[in-house]
Amino acid sequence: MPPTVVILGRPNVGKSTLFNRLAGRRIAIVDNTPGVTRDRKEAPARIGGRDVLLVDTAGLEEAAPETIQGRMRASSEEALRRADVAVFVVDARGGMTPSDLAFAAWLRRQSVPVILVANKTEGRQGGYWAMEAYELGLGDPVAVSAEHGDGIGELHDAVRELLPEEAEGEDEADPDRPLRLAIIGRPNAGKSTLLNALLGEERMITGPEPGLTRDAVAVEWRDETGGRVRLVDTAGLRKRARVTEDLEKMSAAASLAALKECEVAVLVVDALLGMDEQELRLARLAEREGRAVVIALNKWDAVEDRTAARNRLSDTLMTSLAQLKGVAVVPLSAATGKGVERLMPAVREVYALWNKRVPTGELNRWFEDMLARHPPPLVDRRRIKLRYATMPKARPPTVVVFGTRAEELPEDYRRYLVNGFREAFGMPGVPVRLQTRGTT
Ligand code: GDP
Ligand code: GDP
Repeated sequence: MPPTVVILGRPNVGKSTLFNRLAGRRIAIVDNTPGVTRDRKEAPARIGGRDVLLVDTAGLEEAAPETIQGRMRASSEEALRRADVAVFVVDARGGMTPSDLAFAAWLRRQSVPVILVANKTEGRQGGYWAMEAYELGLGDPVAVSAEHGDGIGELHDAVRELLPEEAEGEDEADPDRPLRLAIIGRPNAGKSTLLNALLGEERMITGPEPGLTRDAVAVEWRDETGGRVRLVDTAGLRKRARVTEDLEKMSAAASLAALKECEVAVLVVDALLGMDEQELRLARLAEREGRAVVIALNKWDAVEDRTAARNRLSDTLMTSLAQLKGVAVVPLSAATGKGVERLMPAVREVYALWNKRVPTGELNRWFEDMLARHPPPLVDRRRIKLRYATMPKARPPTVVVFGTRAEELPEDYRRYLVNGFREAFGMPGVPVRLQTRGTT
């Protein structure tokens, strides 16, 4: 594991903006409403020339533990336990507040090295404002503007100085690399409930408060098989209240980002509603991104006619989702936990297939058989001559077909090959790529 850098501070000081700036990507959802970004978010980042895991936390505030802020604090404390370096952000423009002081006092008692960041110091008065942060007793503040990018270089240097020594041969060859999982689905399908059930502990902040937002959250754990799983959750799955058009759009973008980062996507379908356009769109997106898919048919406890629900789903899959033919469907109840234990084995199975490479000999025996059964069609009255196939890569499985005018292979013949491949080598729910190369 790379060293962990945790960003802390009370709500609205600019943690998410800084997180995005350091991670170099738009992952967190930034919003002017205080406390909108509540969950921990993680992203790999390069800081001061080192690979680190960057963690954004919810705000830390003095509050009773029953309140949402109390829970955020508990969550920050947990994040700090894993931290190699803490980046404590204050809003220099707004001045130091009592909760900054209390937070700083608490941080001084922790054993993690702290970098004090005075944010929002763009403009002529910036340096002057940053001085105020000295009163926190955490040493020299690094003056930055997360929004404009000022001072970020100095921050990189400050972090680098505090990182632990580099270990030999970090990362790359790690045989225990975590499986990267995304949980996607429409709002209210039960994604957070499912995540909590998988984790078996309250890692995510869920609750009855209206307007509670989740955005891209990443957590890591070991599943029943002992393998590591890293969740790249999904976005945004906004609750009704205070929904702004913009946030919805950003959430959709975050969903796509999660899909790009994951290896397997669990599509959570509300069994009471069935699979609708929204779910189909997400499933197609996952396929287009080359991700293996498992469908979690959630709220199974509340379904009265299970046979009907199952049939309805397989009809939809057959007619509207041929790309993911044979995709695994796991009925479960995230709320009661029933059936949840069958999800990760299904994920592992499709993951193994997604990683599978078929040896060239075996592949070409299958290929010849396919050609014998249905020779490639005529195009412009000339026959396309296919010669052989290779599988240069998996993740997702990619087959390259060589032959004279192979590039002109029509769509339906490509589909015939892809479906044949998926069937012959047992790859239900796995996106398969077919490429063609012309030879003479
Ligand atoms: P968080 O709650 O601590 O995660 O704060 P956000 O990252 O959501 O930022 C809170 C607000 O401060 C947003 O309106 C940001 O646009 C704004 N903000 C963040 N960084 C800067 C900065 O460097 N300068 C100024 N002027 N505003 C900033
Ligand atoms: P998200 O928006 O996809 O994260 O959905 P949530 O996890 O917040 O769940 C939305 C609602 O569905 C909540 O009221 C949950 O209690 C409810 N819910 C989640 N899973 C189940 C389940 O397995 N059975 C039933 N009956 N309700 C569930």
